[in-house]
Amino acid sequence: MTALAELAYLLAAVCFIFGLMWLASPATARKGNALASVGMLIAIVVTLLDRSILGYEGILIGLVIGAGAGAILARTIRMTAMPQMVALLNGFGGGASVLVASAEYLRLSATGGAALDVGISIQFSVLVGAVTFSGSLIAFGKLQELVTGQAVTYPLQKPLNAVLLLAILAVAAYLVVPGSGLAAPLADLFGGDAAVPLLVLIGLSLVLGVLSVLPIGGADMPVVISLLNSYSGIAAASTGFVIDNNGLIISGALVGASGIILTKIMCNAMNRSLGNVLFGAFGAGAADAAAGGAAAGGTYRQVTAEDAAIMMAYARSVVVVPGYGLAVSQAQHAVRELATLLEARDVDVKYAIHPVAGRMPGHMNVLLAEADVPYDQLWEMERVNPEFDRTDVALVIGANDVVNPAARNNTSSPIYGMPILDVDRANQVIVMKRSMNPGFAGIDNELFYASNTAMLFGDAKASLTKLAAEVKEA
Ligand code: NDP
Repeated sequence: MTALAELAYLLAAVCFIFGLMWLASPATARKGNALASVGMLIAIVVTLLDRSILGYEGILIGLVIGAGAGAILARTIRMTAMPQMVALLNGFGGGASVLVASAEYLRLSATGGAALDVGISIQFSVLVGAVTFSGSLIAFGKLQELVTGQAVTYPLQKPLNAVLLLAILAVAAYLVVPGSGLAAPLADLFGGDAAVPLLVLIGLSLVLGVLSVLPIGGADMPVVISLLNSYSGIAAASTGFVIDNNGLIISGALVGASGIILTKIMCNAMNRSLGNVLFGAFGAGAADAAAGGAAAGGTYRQVTAEDAAIMMAYARSVVVVPGYGLAVSQAQHAVRELATLLEARDVDVKYAIHPVAGRMPGHMNVLLAEADVPYDQLWEMERVNPEFDRTDVALVIGANDVVNPAARNNTSSPIYGMPILDVDRANQVIVMKRSMNPGFAGIDNELFYASNTAMLFGDAKASLTKLAAEVKEA
């Protein structure tokens, strides 16, 4: 590889790192995204020019198909379906690593085999890439409701997964050092064909991916998505070692590391330890969630848009708590309009952002940014929680699990221990949703039955439009 190519990869890496840094704040996120894209363009162009590529036709066809499909999907995808899209993209990343590493394995096998370090990288890429691919497809299926969202459990689940992992490691070891005495029984099994054990390894890893994600249900999906995101980066970095490409190593490592950091943030938001996630114990919580869906019960109070508008119009402070329902009804512009009207009446308006509100990390920030809500009005959970005691009205729009007080005070609740937005401590709470149906975790919410809570039923956007009209009249 020429020094110029190395330098270009370094430049691309600098673009990725600054891009990531800028992504940390909504104010600079667009700039960060653009810079990281430039970095990726540099890395791709250098790879295409520097490598001894035999023909560009195949690459061009792949580029046209891939870019075309990507552009159509990105343009047409609904905001609410974004998490599924992210899950798919993670999966494709893992799948690509499997294909590249497998191709390199077959090429090297035909020319005398890979060196030990390359061999280990190949098998690692195949294993992690295949787990990412099939695991992400299951995550996609769960989010798209093609597969049950509840935890799928069966007897001896963990021992079976452990046996599967051991079998995978045995085949991978055989592929790295097929001649070793340790691998003799496998040599008889596979015969002389290099492709057979590779296909077995891919198949077993795909099964492991499916079996690892199936037991995870309900509210644990944010952790899974960020973890799979990290896996896709780790697989890519390992593939970078296989084909000796520094651009791929660096970008994969960045995705892997940032994915792990995001996983940690999501774990904290769900009150789960990373060890708990990595060793697969978190299916249990979701299974309990299914069983714990019993109603909190009691009576609830309804409010009309007219009365709710008067409550807010004469309040000193209103905290808006957006959730998944805001995304479903695409009510981000309507809520902004209502907030502007309230502010014109000297009402202090803040938005309380829970890290797992919606269906993907940062979902609410993205939605509200789309409606140009000023960033300084978005308050993170830790910062806004002490404010609820002195808040006149908490306006909960399509949020449910993230405001369920059972997480704080009901030890038998499946979400007990998960940090929540303490909206029940506000003077008055208005909850906007269409029915008394539960949220993603499938459990009832005692907030709806509290004496200071009033339900405003209907689609969030329609209700917000009515509220805005009433505030204008007030
Ligand atoms: P929830 O899923 O708990 O609740 C959303 C509520 O919105 C529902 O109760 C629903 O009630 C209401 N709703 C749906 N459509 C509309 C509409 N058009 N108008 C008004 N209301 C509507 O959402 P939260 O944001 O509170 O919590 C997020 C949940 O998703 C958590 O359990 C989290 O763990 C999980 N999750 C989060 C991910 C992430 O990364 N952020 C990823 C995957 C899962 P109704 O049907 O009665 O209208």
